[in-house]
Formats: sequence, structure tokens, C-alpha cells
Amino acid sequence: MSLVYRNENPLFVHSAKNILDINGIDSFLKNEHGSTMGPEFGSSNLLELWVSNSDDCNKALSLIENESKKQAIKPSWLCGECKEENEGNFELCWNCQSNRGGL
Ligand SMILES: [Zn+2]
Repeated sequence: MSLVYRNENPLFVHSAKNILDINGIDSFLKNEHGSTMGPEFGSSNLLELWVSNSDDCNKALSLIENESKKQAIKPSWLCGECKEENEGNFELCWNCQSNRGGL
């Protein structure tokens, strides 16, 4: 068993598990209902994602990393020229092609 992911936001951990499920990697969650042990036991209350088979660890890590890059939410921005709203991954205004830096 190997720990592959841990986050204070359970949503991220659940979505990471979903990715592993889709890719056929056997995984399970720890601390799903909160740990009953305190910090004196060296455990955290963060939700953890583990893979059952340590051989899947590297594959799981890269899947999660790729997915978290894809899902990285970039804030949308307003064009300084035409005031149109642009998606965060646009570098140029879709409307007037102004550079994003021109705010
Ligand atoms: Zn514009």
C-alpha cells in the first residue's frame, strides 16, 4: 500500500480517486470520516488516497498530477481594451486580441 495523495479539500481527494478508478487502479481512502486519533499519534485528519498495490504508485502519481494540471482553475480576466471577459487560459482577448497584460 502506498499513500499517493492527500489534501485538506476532500473534493480534490475524491476526484483523484475517481481518476484512479477510471484507470483501473485499485485505491481507497483513509480518514474519510475524520480520524479519531489526535495529533499525538502523529496522524492527520486530512483525507488520504492510497493505492492497494505499491506497483501502481508511480502511475497513480502521474495520473493525479496530469489531472490536477488540467483542472487548475485559472481566474477569468477582463480585457483592458474592450472589457470583454476572457477565460483564464486565454492569453489574448478573444474579442479584440489585446494582450492580457494590458490591464
Ligand atoms: Zn478585448
